[in-house]
Amino acid sequence: MARPDLHERLQDQRKLREAQGRIRTRRTVSRRDGVRLEIDGRWLTGFCSNDYLGLSQQFEVVAALQDAAARDGAGSTASHLVCGHHALHAQLEQEMADWLGYPRALLFDSGYMANLAVQQALLSEENDVCVQDRLNHASLLDATRLAGCRLRRYPHLDSEGAIRQLKHAPDGAAMLVTDGVFSMDGDIAPLRSLSLVARMQQALFYVDDAHGVGVVGADGRGCVAEAGLGVNEVPLQLATLGKALGGHGAVVLGEEALIRHLAETARPYIYTTALPPAQIAASLAAVKLARRDHWRREKLTELIGLFREGARRLGLELMPSETPIQPLLCGDEATVMALSAALEQSGFLVSAIRPPTVPEGKARLRVTLSALHSAGQVKALVEAIGAARDLVLYQKSLTPVSV
Ligand SMILES: *Cc1c(COP(=O)(O)O)cnc(C)c1O
Repeated sequence: MARPDLHERLQDQRKLREAQGRIRTRRTVSRRDGVRLEIDGRWLTGFCSNDYLGLSQQFEVVAALQDAAARDGAGSTASHLVCGHHALHAQLEQEMADWLGYPRALLFDSGYMANLAVQQALLSEENDVCVQDRLNHASLLDATRLAGCRLRRYPHLDSEGAIRQLKHAPDGAAMLVTDGVFSMDGDIAPLRSLSLVARMQQALFYVDDAHGVGVVGADGRGCVAEAGLGVNEVPLQLATLGKALGGHGAVVLGEEALIRHLAETARPYIYTTALPPAQIAASLAAVKLARRDHWRREKLTELIGLFREGARRLGLELMPSETPIQPLLCGDEATVMALSAALEQSGFLVSAIRPPTVPEGKARLRVTLSALHSAGQVKALVEAIGAARDLVLYQKSLTPVSV
């Protein structure tokens, strides 16, 4: 029996990605100043970061990081259960629990790892089931694979579909999992009805609110609080520190017993080095600002309205989103790549999102807004998108695109 040659396989896969227009490349940012980015010697206005509140370079946040680094060093030196758990970690867990109204919080090195941890630690048996929205974040799907239990998915936002999937698997323990704000669509899950579904079907409800905490609700407490829910309806939720809070890491909030179980048994928690205390100091400062500065959310709301109004006037295909994630559907990969390139020519960085991150035929420009954008920048972006669209349509009319 001949073993498959791995190098050959990789080459074949690469050729396929080339043919599908799915090669991914990284852009190297040499400097950043708020929403402005220097790439290949040119300054662009970025509309693709998740720094919604504009906290990542905020003076108080960076100063807190510097002070803590001077005192505590660059790293945590060990995992939480060895000797890496610093007073700053404990303080941030307390602060997050207090802000979001949960009994306890547990810090993770990233949202990705937190999601792996939650399912791996709780869904340990083969006939357990994880029921998920079809458009949930990739880390939630990977987590089910790591847990080794069954995965069942329901149509986007469809609570009835969630019931059907739970009824399909009546024998094992169950978890119902959804993004709060959907990362590639910007819309919000129907958390109230999903919480009822979870209760009726005796499933543990887990909400990943990576893009909601800091942004959604007048006080920025995210989708769960905004829906009038708490730990009783949503026993576990995820908040990330790397998006609206401008730092790095994630926090799982939940009931005492669940959090204790995660801290004692979740492998992605136990077998990794704790985040640097200085990084945590930065997040403490960021949470303080996110709680205090309502103007950041008010400014975002204003910019979101401005963007949608402009896009509507141009006849662009908006999605039903009230959040700073404002995708524009383009359809195929070639079109979205051409649009993104044309926008870069006019000085804007907007990411083109393609399958497999989004479903086939749903390639899109993922525009994200930040409290640091000015109304002028948003208006200029809308104009540039209009011009890019006209250019791409014109080019298409000259050369039939073969996709
Ligand atoms: C970004 C994101 C994550 C991962 O968080 P990181 O801290 O970047 O690893 C998890 N879930 C959702 C919905 C996300 O958008």
